[in-house]
Amino acid sequence: MPEKATILVIDDEIAMRDSCSQVLTKDGFRTETAEDGDSGLKKIRETKPDLVLVDLKMPGMSGMELLEKIADIDPNIVSVVITGYATIESAVEAMKRNAYDFLPKPFTPDQLRIVTKRGLERRRLALESAQLQLEKEKMKENFITLVSHQLRSPLASIQQYFEVILGGFAGNVDRKQKEMIEQASKYIDDLLRLVDDWLNMSRIEAGKLVEKFEPVDLVHVLSETMELLKPLANDKKVTLEINSHDSRPVVQGNAETLKQVFTNLISNGINYNREGGTVAVSTREEDDYLAVEVSDTGIGISQKNLPFIFDEFFRVKSQKTRAVTGSGLGLPIAKRIIEAHNGSIKLTSKLGKGSTFSILLPNAKGKDKSRWKK
Ligand code: ADP
Repeated sequence: MPEKATILVIDDEIAMRDSCSQVLTKDGFRTETAEDGDSGLKKIRETKPDLVLVDLKMPGMSGMELLEKIADIDPNIVSVVITGYATIESAVEAMKRNAYDFLPKPFTPDQLRIVTKRGLERRRLALESAQLQLEKEKMKENFITLVSHQLRSPLASIQQYFEVILGGFAGNVDRKQKEMIEQASKYIDDLLRLVDDWLNMSRIEAGKLVEKFEPVDLVHVLSETMELLKPLANDKKVTLEINSHDSRPVVQGNAETLKQVFTNLISNGINYNREGGTVAVSTREEDDYLAVEVSDTGIGISQKNLPFIFDEFFRVKSQKTRAVTGSGLGLPIAKRIIEAHNGSIKLTSKLGKGSTFSILLPNAKGKDKSRWKK
C-alpha cells in the first residue's frame, strides 16, 4: 500500500462528501468523491482506492449493488457502508456483499477516523497475506525447478554412467570394482527416490490433481500395482493376496496417483513384514463409497508412534526398521492424494502383529458426499 492511502467517498449528498473529504484530507489521506454508483465505479477503476465509503441509498445504482461491483473489481478494496437507515438486516446484507464495516449517519469526525483506520489496517493485512501467499507459491516453484534440474538430473546421469560401466561398455571391471559401483548405484537409487518424494510432495496440490480426474477402475489399479511389487515380495518371502468382489468399483480420480498410494502402502506392508508374512488387499463397495484395506502381518506400529505416522519425514526408529531405507514421505504423500480425492485414510496397528490401512474413496456413482468432509 502506498504511504498516502486513497479514500473514495460515494454519496449523493454533497454535504456528506465534502465533510468526509475535509476530515480525511486533513488527516493526510488522498480523497476522491463521487455522487452515484456509476461515477463511483469509474473513479475506482481510475484511482484504485484503498478504501471506499459507500452510501446505501442513492439514486440509480443502489449501494448494495455497488458493493458487489466493487468486490468484483478488487476484493481487497475495503468498503465501509455509511447510511442514515441503519438496520441489522441491511448491515448483514452489506456484509454478505463484502462490506467490511458499517457507520450509521450522523457520525462524528472521530468515528469516521476510527472506522477508516480499522479498514486500512485490514487492507494492509490482506495485501500482506496475498503477498506472502505469492512468495510461498514462487518458492515452491523455485524448489521444484531447483530440485529437478540441479539435483535430479545430475543424479540420473551418474546412474547412467554406472550402468555403462557395469555393462562393461567402458572396459573391463573386476569383481571388487563391480561390487563398489553396485553399492554406489544403490545409494544413488535411494537418493533419486528421496528426490522424487520431495517433488511429489510439492506437486500434489488438491486443486491441480482434480483437473486430471476421470473414472478409474480400482481393481485394475490394484492388480497392476501388485504385479509390479511381486519381485519385491518374492525377495522378502512375503505373500501378496487380493480379495475383491466380482464388481468393478469405479472412482472418480487420477489413476497414476492412486497407484502411487497403493504402491507405497503395499511396499511398506512388504518391507515392514516378517519372513513368511502376508500382505492382503481387499476392496468393498457400498452405496456412496469404496473401501480398500491393505493389511499386513508385519512388525506393526506402537500406540506411541501411531499419531505421527502421517507426519512428513516421520520414521519409526527401531532395530527392525533400520534395514529399510526410506524418506518418511510415502504416507504423508498418500494422505494428500487420498484427501485430494475427497477420501480418507486411517491406520490401525498392533506392535508385533501387523497393520491395516483403511481407505475410503467416494464411489463415482455415489451422490451423498457429506461424509467425505474432512
Ligand atoms: P518410509 O517408508 O519411506 O520411511 P512412509 O511415510 O511410507 O516412509 O512410512 C513412515 C514410517 O511408518 C516408516 O518409516 C515405518 O517406520 C512406518 N510404517 C509405515 N508402514 C508401515 C507398516 N505397514 N508396518 C510397520 N511400520 C510401517
